[in-house]
Amino acid sequence: MSRRAVVIGAGLAGMLAAAALSAVADEVVVLDRDDLPEGPEHRKGLPQGRHAHLLMAGGLAPMEELVPGVSMRKHLLAAGAHEIALGSGMVALTPEGWFRRWRHPGPRMLTCTRALLDWAVRGAVLDSTGVVVRKARVLELTGSRQRVTGVRLSTAAGEEDLAADFVVDASGRGSRIVTWLARLGVDDVREKTVDAGLVNATRLYRTPEGAGSFPLAMVQADPYQGRPGRSGMVLPIEGDRWMVSLAGTRGGGEPPSDPDAFLRYTLDLPDPIVGRLISGAEPLTEVHVSRSTSNHRRYLEKVRSWPDRLVVLGDALATFNPAYGQGMSVAALGARELDRELRRSGLGEPGLARRVQRRVARPVEAAWTMAVSQDVWYPGTRGGSPGVVDRMVTAYTRRMIRTATGSYTAASAVWDVMSMTTGPTRLLRPSTVLATLSGPPLPAAVGAPLTEDERAVLRRLDRTGR
Ligand SMILES: Cc1cc2nc3c(=O)[nH]c(=O)nc-3n(C[C@H](O)[C@H](O)[C@H](O)COP(=O)(O)OP(=O)(O)OC[C@H]3O[C@@H](n4cnc5c(N)ncnc54)[C@H](O)[C@@H]3O)c2cc1C
Repeated sequence: MSRRAVVIGAGLAGMLAAAALSAVADEVVVLDRDDLPEGPEHRKGLPQGRHAHLLMAGGLAPMEELVPGVSMRKHLLAAGAHEIALGSGMVALTPEGWFRRWRHPGPRMLTCTRALLDWAVRGAVLDSTGVVVRKARVLELTGSRQRVTGVRLSTAAGEEDLAADFVVDASGRGSRIVTWLARLGVDDVREKTVDAGLVNATRLYRTPEGAGSFPLAMVQADPYQGRPGRSGMVLPIEGDRWMVSLAGTRGGGEPPSDPDAFLRYTLDLPDPIVGRLISGAEPLTEVHVSRSTSNHRRYLEKVRSWPDRLVVLGDALATFNPAYGQGMSVAALGARELDRELRRSGLGEPGLARRVQRRVARPVEAAWTMAVSQDVWYPGTRGGSPGVVDRMVTAYTRRMIRTATGSYTAASAVWDVMSMTTGPTRLLRPSTVLATLSGPPLPAAVGAPLTEDERAVLRRLDRTGR
């Protein structure tokens, strides 16, 4: 008998889950309410797609495994993505000072528009598997609290039931999974929101001549001063463009949509490097502003009785403050857990869905802890405030970041966790603890660690008269 799997949502989590399912199902149908563009274009169903999306090494690795016969790294680089080494290819001002640049590059991340990333991943999955995408809005799940048997969907032709042997909800942060589960009789889903009131504002610029190899520049927000967070970065993307993304928290940190105020915001950051770089650059778009970027978590792994044949992945399961660049990597790591379990036991094994949901909770927990343990410090944050454990963890983390500004051992531990190539226990390895307790062997860098040539480029681009 032919086995059909249905995936709700053709975003990153959905397409990677479809790739995993294609190895064991006879038919995989991905349903999306949106018209999916033919090329790397922005679409309505992904409002966050206008903003910076860094793909960490920990997210790229599972993607490499999931799409059969395709090196996603090479595929994305060929499509125009840039590869940035965390250790040598960026200049970042942290709350504890500038990170040094080292000869050893450390883990790498990819930068490009989200539109390019989704288009490249979708294309690779569709070309290398029998997965099909269909335009439809899913209205609810069908089945019982013991087992999901398909979805009810709506198309231009009306409503219909689509039977499935396995369903993945990857419908993003607006997922109605909690309501859908309640209708099946699963009504004990615990949820948590920690909301710093983050606002993102992004504008694209043409990369100025001679600045193509300038390092990614980032001024991070400081959660520890009792003031709203304010941050900014310039990252290279496809098409010889710079994406300039600002982010700030509730109560006065919010970046503006007015172009002049946008530039002023960058110049008022603790270091004006972002503003100096773009002060004479040619803008290619207006400023796009988005809200609704809270940390939100659904503890699906903890419900008493989980229905068979249903898995929830990506933002439908948990969202994080995007400043930490983790959402897509968590989505990819989740799809890899699904893939591993499916290959081990096949589509129909009772208990498989619950096992996947529990395993997926691990990367979610790591990303959640990293984001929330910092967000609770912003003055306007709702849904959480620092407790005793947060204070202890923060004291250690701050000391480690300070050490990382002048210690390769500490810096490489921070990159590994930031890039999600290892879990947060990496920060507690004896070598890291020892380095942290000893403090930085090298003094803090004064100003952005740029080469002479890069300084000359910055001076040439700077129209601020600073
Ligand atoms: C401002 C901002 C910046 C970010 N920056 C980063 C970053 O730097 N790095 C990073 O890793 N992550 C980042 N993220 C997080 C990242 O955007 C998400 O984690 C990622 O999009 C999750 O993918 P997904 O497939 O789960 O959901 P989505 O990408 O949101 O896809 C969901 C899909 O489901 C479809 N859909 C929804 N409802 C239905 C329905 N009922 N029926 C059918 N289809 C439906 C939608 O049309 C959409 O195509 C950022 C997020 C924001 C908000």
